Amino acid sequence: MLDPEQEPIFTVDGPNNKVYERVNWTPQASGISIPDEVAEKLEIDWAKFLNRHDPVRNITYADEIDEEKTFLEGASKTVKINIYERNAEARSICIKKYGARCSICGFDFGKQFGEIGQGFIHVHHITPLSMICKGYILNPIDDLRPVCPNCHAMLHQKRPEPYTVEELKTILMQMIDKAN
Ligand SMILES: [Zn+2]
Ligand SMILES: [Zn+2]
Repeated sequence: MLDPEQEPIFTVDGPNNKVYERVNWTPQASGISIPDEVAEKLEIDWAKFLNRHDPVRNITYADEIDEEKTFLEGASKTVKINIYERNAEARSICIKKYGARCSICGFDFGKQFGEIGQGFIHVHHITPLSMICKGYILNPIDDLRPVCPNCHAMLHQKRPEPYTVEELKTILMQMIDKAN
């Protein structure tokens, strides 16, 4: 939500927005569907737009894990999870709370890569699918955890329910113990 009196309004006009012309944004109908390519650009532009007011870097759409994506294409309730993990505002609240650092291995992109890594992190949705029902409202602090892309991929090695953060931490610790 934006406050139009204080904040600039997001617009689909502009020289880089040719793709938006494919959609009639002011239809005389209650709902329209947007082609995937347009929705994708809209999502990215919206996140960029929000970023202007937000120090937490949200553009981490390289964060799509291929297998996860394939898996998520099936049922509508799992698609929602993907949306939460990519939702700019939810991500921002989660990262402000926990820091842009992996909850499992502690990896911090800012520390390792300096400026280009500052604020980069994936966000993982920890609430089990089985607990998500109609009317479920995401709580970014209880339901999301920042994780590095490697640990994120490992969480989703278990399907349909991913490993819990604690389970994966235990696996990682056991491997570290073994190595020593
Ligand atoms: Zn990690
Ligand atoms: Zn995830």
